[in-house]
Amino acid sequence: MQLDGKTAIVTGGASGIGKAIATAYVEEGANVVIASRTESEGTEVADEIGCTYVQTDVREYDQVEKLVETTVDEFGKLDVMVNNAGIASETPVEEMELDEWGNVVQTDLDGVMHGTKAALPHLEETDGCIINTASIYGLVGGKGAAAYSAAKGGVVNFTQQVAVDYAEEGVRVNSICPGFVETPMTEELLETDRFYSYVRDNTPMNRPAQPEEIAPLAVFLASDGAGYVTGANIPIDGGWTAH
Ligand code: NAD
Repeated sequence: MQLDGKTAIVTGGASGIGKAIATAYVEEGANVVIASRTESEGTEVADEIGCTYVQTDVREYDQVEKLVETTVDEFGKLDVMVNNAGIASETPVEEMELDEWGNVVQTDLDGVMHGTKAALPHLEETDGCIINTASIYGLVGGKGAAAYSAAKGGVVNFTQQVAVDYAEEGVRVNSICPGFVETPMTEELLETDRFYSYVRDNTPMNRPAQPEEIAPLAVFLASDGAGYVTGANIPIDGGWTAH
């Protein structure tokens, strides 16, 4: 029980990587609140794993602030904020509609800032931590993912900056940078031979990950065992960025 008695929020916790993290947190003894846009999916997953659901659009600061306040009202404190909600984009910059660019950046980067800003006052009280889901595309380039890479690169640098700014307040801030993971986000892409080959050939371990292979890193970063880890952007990618 590495997270016994801790309270955690996982945005995008109703699907894929976020669901795996929320499930692992519950198993490790935490009180967990998941947040996502789609209420039917959120309540179903919350019932399945034994946690609370709050409908939230991370692009809207007021909604994220309400999510944090609801959590603190219910459980009395906040120890762990996982800013995980995100959307993908495969469009090269010349073909990019400005609306698509805006939506990706608002979800993947502004959403992380909103969760961080709303959670920090509570995390300062508990010596808590923030875990952001970035990506290998925040560390290295990827095919056609202009908006996604820009947003995830922002998350990587934002993680370092907030870690530096809040180290003296006792708040640790880290990010997880997964390679390709089989989730609803990548399901259709990975079903095509061309894309599956691209992933297999560029991953030294020759396969994408399962969400359950990402969750243990999020458990470690939230645990007291990670007490000296802050400002780290950690690849968990089967060797992609080492290649
Ligand atoms: P997913 O589509 O399975 O889950 C994404 C979740 O985010 C869903 O619950 C969705 O409802 C939620 N979400 C999307 N927009 C939202 C919004 N505006 N407000 C609130 N919730 C919103 O995807 P996933 O693969 O589990 O992705 C989770 C995170 O991991 C994302 O940040 C993604 O960029 C990142 N990531 C994924 C991969 C991969 O290969 N799957 C690789 C690296 C990083």
